[in-house]
Amino acid sequence: MKLHEYQAKEIFAKYGLPVTPGAVVKHLSEVDAALKQFPQGPWVVKAQIHAGGRGKAGGVKFAKTEQEVHEKAAAILGMTLVSPQTGPEGKLVKKIFITPAVDYVKELYVSVVLDRVNRTPIILASAEGGTEIEELAVTKPDAIFKIIVDPIEGLHSYQARQLHLRLGLPPEAINQGAKVFQTMVKVFMDLDLSMLEVNPLVVLKDGTIHCLDAKVDFEDNGLARHKDYAAWRDPDEEDARELLAAEHGLSYISLDGYVGCLVNGAGLAMATADAIQHFGGSPANFLDVGGSASQKAVTQAFKIILSDTRVKAILVNIFGGIAKCDVIAQGIIDAAKEVGLSLPLVVRLEGTNVEKGKELLAQSSLKYTFASSMDEAAKAVVAAAKGGKS
Ligand code: ADP
Ligand code: MG
Repeated sequence: MKLHEYQAKEIFAKYGLPVTPGAVVKHLSEVDAALKQFPQGPWVVKAQIHAGGRGKAGGVKFAKTEQEVHEKAAAILGMTLVSPQTGPEGKLVKKIFITPAVDYVKELYVSVVLDRVNRTPIILASAEGGTEIEELAVTKPDAIFKIIVDPIEGLHSYQARQLHLRLGLPPEAINQGAKVFQTMVKVFMDLDLSMLEVNPLVVLKDGTIHCLDAKVDFEDNGLARHKDYAAWRDPDEEDARELLAAEHGLSYISLDGYVGCLVNGAGLAMATADAIQHFGGSPANFLDVGGSASQKAVTQAFKIILSDTRVKAILVNIFGGIAKCDVIAQGIIDAAKEVGLSLPLVVRLEGTNVEKGKELLAQSSLKYTFASSMDEAAKAVVAAAKGGKS
């Protein structure tokens, strides 16, 4: 789960990390109240969306006067921001953050992420902040330091102090710097984050450091331990179908294509997406209805797939292991009837009681194409989606 910058900064403030507070504004009529709360300019008006690269895309603007704050707020609120992280369709800005501008001398990059190879958190840091880390990793990989963090003890004091010096920060500010790095790791571990990123982390005139931007991603599997923060989820920023699927215990991920996929098992769902791609099609989603593939789950899954208007044909690819194919076939028939399915449908069933399942499908009034292998199924659904015969 991602949070907005203003939410991440609230967490940072709670832990004593250096951030500048600001006001969140959802409507232009609230700008005056925000200025009353933060009367000392100049200010920065920042789009609050779940994507980085806002600055370059025009979503972060400097304002010298109150009049300018109003103008920049009007320009950013309601705009569709397109950055390398939003995808080509961009993201509508529904909230802005109005915050006093910070005067700084240098930008740095620091993040804490999980290193799955090492099975520990690691810090990635660079004295070259401001740029995207992905870009830096390609153009100047040596400029990124990597520090392995002890998953039990956190960042040791000596590591934090070393990092401070390696980043070229002034020795007289080493206590503040080291404390900031250790606290970042503490936030990451306390809250079960999958990422904490500060870009830029800036150096002020007195040599101390300050978090100008803040990004945190919660690990979804850890959210049950952080219910207060789980409530901070912003549905406006998330895919409506993914949210609905999660409510029904289905694993659904939106993709860019046009072939709807209804599959049981995550591995089979991935293989299905690959097969569709292999035969020249493009999957509209990844969807794992779970091992049982009950009628309820299948009905809900059909509804979610059909709410995506890009979908031109549907592939049901089910392996009856614990679940029996005849039960699943009946589920598909009933679910298709309930949702009034009219798109081309390709069904591939395999496993326990497959013959009974086939029989049920054949006897039903459901219009579908039966495929006896993955390849055949993928080929048939791609042809159907492209308007050929299914
Ligand atoms: P993003 O990473 O999405 O582009 P940032 O919060 O990093 O957004 O802002 C982009 C740039 O805007 C920063 O690198 C910094 O130069 C400037 N900036 C952001 N917030 C402030 C602030 N409070 N004071 C001064 N400059 C800021
Ligand atoms: Mg940034």
